Amino acid sequence: MKEFIMAQQNGRNIPSEDKIFGISRLANEMIEKKGKDAVTNATIGALLDDDGKLVVLSSVVEVLRNLTPEDYAEYAPIGGTADFKKSIKKAAFGKYMPNCFTEAVATPGGTGAIRNTIANYSKIGDQVLTSDWFWATYSSIAGEIGRSVTTYSLFDEAGNFNITAFERKVDELLSVQESLVIIINTPAHNPTGYSLTLQDWDNLLNTVKAVAAEDKKVTLFIDVAYIDFAGDPDKYREFLPKLENLQTNILPIIGYSSSKTFTLYGMRCGAMICMTPIKEIAEEFVRVCQFSARASWSNCTRASMVVLSKIYEDNTLLEKVNEERKHYCDLLLKRGKAFEEEASKVGLKIVPFDAGFFASIPCADPDGASKMLQEEGIFLVPLAKGLRVSVASIPEEKCRMLPGKILSVLNSMK
Ligand code: PLP
Repeated sequence: MKEFIMAQQNGRNIPSEDKIFGISRLANEMIEKKGKDAVTNATIGALLDDDGKLVVLSSVVEVLRNLTPEDYAEYAPIGGTADFKKSIKKAAFGKYMPNCFTEAVATPGGTGAIRNTIANYSKIGDQVLTSDWFWATYSSIAGEIGRSVTTYSLFDEAGNFNITAFERKVDELLSVQESLVIIINTPAHNPTGYSLTLQDWDNLLNTVKAVAAEDKKVTLFIDVAYIDFAGDPDKYREFLPKLENLQTNILPIIGYSSSKTFTLYGMRCGAMICMTPIKEIAEEFVRVCQFSARASWSNCTRASMVVLSKIYEDNTLLEKVNEERKHYCDLLLKRGKAFEEEASKVGLKIVPFDAGFFASIPCADPDGASKMLQEEGIFLVPLAKGLRVSVASIPEEKCRMLPGKILSVLNSMK
């Protein structure tokens, strides 16, 4: 890594280039040299249509186009406008509006919710827990504010959620820390596409309830960034009632993002929403999270808040948006299934997959495999434990083509 010249490292590990953007750049360079057909760029974390163009919901764009200048020029309140807070709760909970105190605080995308949760519910120096397959940004955010990420093994030998590893790690951390933030990314986990089953949820919650003694504080951050691209929206929200009215020292916080759901990636619109049986805990949540927001990004974009408010105050419009999203969700699900089916056909082992933007392949030398695949015009993201394929960014026929190619590269490395 380069020496710092003027800037301070402050314990962080800052690479010279973001890994994913770096590989995507190489893919674009190859497209310029060899043409589009020679390249498969499965690194991009956004939904692209079969021609490689960003999918943007036209029903959402129409609302944006009709905004008044004040809708986007004026500051929004730090925690979000009242209508926005109501709307984003409806978006997040769907038909499972909880029977407990819920408060929403606006954040710039799901990323802001992660940042504010770690900042307010862990201590400086604490370790934050997530699974060993995880979105690397969790670690960057934790490091940026003086915390770090530690992991448990997500799957056991049989490919099921590894409740034993989870329990061991929660126990270990709570024996040395007063508080613990646990990040659970489900459904349609990045990078594996795994979704916790209802049974997984019961096991997980029973473990946390048993291990979290009264003098400890556990924050369960549920990152649902991909919840609306996993499949049936009601089915994928069935776990939510399980989070209502847990013991008072366990606080669920839902990290909700409009980036994928409303294709508002660049508008930076999201929210953190707490669920608690105690009014004072909900009030404190608003106070501390708004304080953190003021001290980092201040307020979020009003335009995106107005867009969501307008969608949720008009049922016909909401239906239109939902229908349009369903069309693209179906397209994405087909791609994921095609990849999974073909992997099974050719005998490529993949990490247990359910749905969403990504699937992963375990391998011993992800960087080496990624480089070899690049020579064949295939660009995937190397992670610590394997390769990530974005099925969101490539058409179905490429999803079918990839498993065989990946398998032969992995076999050639043995
Ligand atoms: N969580 C996960 C796992 C993600 O992959 C992403 C986006 O890539 C996010 C949260 C939040 O994204 P945003 O800040 O754009 O809403």
